[in-house]
Amino acid sequence: MNIDVELIEKVVKKVLSDVETASPCEEYSYGIFETMDQAIEASHKAQKELMKHSMADRQRYVEGIREVVCKKENLEYMSQRAAEESGMGEVEYKIIKNRLAAMKSPGIEDLVTEALSGDDGLTLVEYCPFGVIGAIAPTTNPTETVICNSIAMIAGGNTVVFSPHPRSKGVSIWLIKKLNAKLEELGAPRNLIVTVQEPSIENTNIMMQHPLVRMLVATGGPGIVKAVMSTGKKAIGAGAGNPPVVVDETADIEKAAKDIINGCSFDNNLPCIAEKECIAVDQIADYLIFNMKNNGAYEVKDPAIIQQLVDLVTIDGKKPQVDFVGKSAQYILSKVGINVGKEVKVIICEANEDHPFVQVELMMPILPVVRVANVDDAIDMAVRCEHGNRHTAMMHSKNVEKLTKMAKEIETTIFVKNGPSYAGIGVGGMGYTTFTIAGPTGEGLTSAKSFCRKRRCVLQDGLHIRMK
Ligand code: NAD
Repeated sequence: MNIDVELIEKVVKKVLSDVETASPCEEYSYGIFETMDQAIEASHKAQKELMKHSMADRQRYVEGIREVVCKKENLEYMSQRAAEESGMGEVEYKIIKNRLAAMKSPGIEDLVTEALSGDDGLTLVEYCPFGVIGAIAPTTNPTETVICNSIAMIAGGNTVVFSPHPRSKGVSIWLIKKLNAKLEELGAPRNLIVTVQEPSIENTNIMMQHPLVRMLVATGGPGIVKAVMSTGKKAIGAGAGNPPVVVDETADIEKAAKDIINGCSFDNNLPCIAEKECIAVDQIADYLIFNMKNNGAYEVKDPAIIQQLVDLVTIDGKKPQVDFVGKSAQYILSKVGINVGKEVKVIICEANEDHPFVQVELMMPILPVVRVANVDDAIDMAVRCEHGNRHTAMMHSKNVEKLTKMAKEIETTIFVKNGPSYAGIGVGGMGYTTFTIAGPTGEGLTSAKSFCRKRRCVLQDGLHIRMK
């Protein structure tokens, strides 16, 4: 038989070239894809891979995320860039918030297995992954949300597709790339955390409808929370708040004033948990305001200027004007012709309950103070001003009966007593942190187990060792 070597060479070359064209050497994009479909498919593949990795591996990936975020140059860069890109908040606070999200979001230790043993054997209930999770992040905490959600979701064995707010896409993409690079170095599957090059409402809608996305988590305002809850998928909604703080006549007024100004001015009032209106018993209101001023508050008394502020920072007194969200007190005052130094952290003014500054979630360091006759009226008003969000409230009082009454009546996810609002997310208060606080759907302060399915595994007549 004659062998045509030339022909064989030709065939081999053709086959090799076909193989090369069919699967060109894929360049790793560190989790950033052109289309949402590509991102979700990559995430799905990564999740299947992650299931083959051990729990110890997952914890190493969590530690890797912490390491990337807490590296000084990364922490400073992302905090600076988030503040610049979104035009909201202050770098120094973003550094605190990003580090907090990295260090105090729980890892796999959150997934405590339930076991039931007895005459009929042993039953285990384990926290297992949902699979691919679609997570929508707000402009107010863009990187913080990517950090705490990534830690919790990966610890739970999931992968995550992010929909960052378009106004903070640059920093979100930068962070996601950095995290994936570190995860790859640690031997994790590629694309545990993904997003698209151009985040948009259209892409978020594709993500919400995609069959491979098994759970949706919305951290944002009422619109997006409603949107995820209407998809028919398992959804976690971490929605808007309007946290009131009540001060009664038994409180340590000097401490209350300091705590309220510190909480209210934290990242220029961007956190959804921050003090948004103060309701004070008349008897101590003057002394409270006096002490607020000693701690960095600037009081506006002229009704004409208060009205100018309303016109400036709200849309018809109904919604916040986005250009002023997360801006400093100094900046806002300068726009109504009042020039003050950086030591002014919060603008205060006295107001009635129906004032827009009381009713609207401004997310700016403007704090209205409403006087009431007694603590019971204060609690009733606080419940009304919170609008049933069941998000966060604060109270300064030494009266245990009234503290208990407010906690019961306001039914918020977080209730801080005698401290600043941020004590409720683990800053100077006990407990872990998260920037996804799920009031509407009830998971509360989310952590790894919030993003897991509970699955029962039953062994009949075995592994119960208490009796012979
Ligand atoms: P936002 O609701 O405007 O946006 C949140 C996210 O949802 C963004 O990524 C945005 O692009 C997306 N989005 C909004 N509407 C959408 C729609 N119709 N379709 C698709 N995507 C949509 O909120 P924001 O201004 O970025 O953040 C501030 C709000 O978020 C405040 O109300 C604040 O209280 C809330 N928030 C809540 C928590 C919490 O843990 N509960 C945490 C942070 C912020």
